[in-house]
Amino acid sequence: MNSPCQPSGSAGTLDTPLRVGGLLPMTTLDYPGHLACVVFCQGCAWRCRYCHNPELIRVRVPTDISWTQVLSFLHKRHGLLDAVVFSGGEATLQKALPGAMRKVRELGFKVGLHSAGIKPGAFRRVLPLCDWVGFDVKALEEDVALITGVTGSGQANWQSLEILLESGVAYECRTTVHWQLFDSQRLQRLAERLAGQGVAHFVVQLARGQSMFDPTLGASIAPAEAAQLWPYLQQLFPRFEVREA
Ligand code: SF4
Repeated sequence: MNSPCQPSGSAGTLDTPLRVGGLLPMTTLDYPGHLACVVFCQGCAWRCRYCHNPELIRVRVPTDISWTQVLSFLHKRHGLLDAVVFSGGEATLQKALPGAMRKVRELGFKVGLHSAGIKPGAFRRVLPLCDWVGFDVKALEEDVALITGVTGSGQANWQSLEILLESGVAYECRTTVHWQLFDSQRLQRLAERLAGQGVAHFVVQLARGQSMFDPTLGASIAPAEAAQLWPYLQQLFPRFEVREA
């Protein structure tokens, strides 16, 4: 999830209920292999300490861009963009998301989704409307609440992963690693469990130390053994990458 860029302009009076927190007009990073824009949706039920879009966690925040304005932006991007990625926050928590995805498809764009599957039922409902999902696996199921601060989040996160893997929708699974919240052994166990579940594409996203939800979380300093871990993880998956979050 990148930082949102918020164009100026009034929200207008014809807004659909999709609550938009920002728009990144063009990216090649958020939907691999595609030129896309990213619509940042407001609201998240979790509180990941490293969250670098903390301004999107609240459900309703006044912003300078509306869904109506996003649609008029998209009308001018025919032939210039391949896809629209819904990110957040946690986009699947908004009831307006399926309608917004259908609209994007009608306009001729592919649909990408960034999600941690916070509500498995809602996640399952939007999957048929997605061409690709960037799915955040927070940690081993039993460790997820240490990252999100929410009891039961591990069960939801891993149930949604199962739903995704069964769906046949193209995806990447990614885990954000802040080295104050992870150690090499836990990351290795997580990767082994994901490989055992049949995950074919795994990405480790190294947390940036800026604009985090928990300002007391310091710099993420990799332990010495991390460098030796990457070749081991590489051979667990058909596709494996390490990138900056
Ligand atoms: S799931 Fe975590 S990282 Fe993602 S938006 Fe919510 S709090 Fe931030």
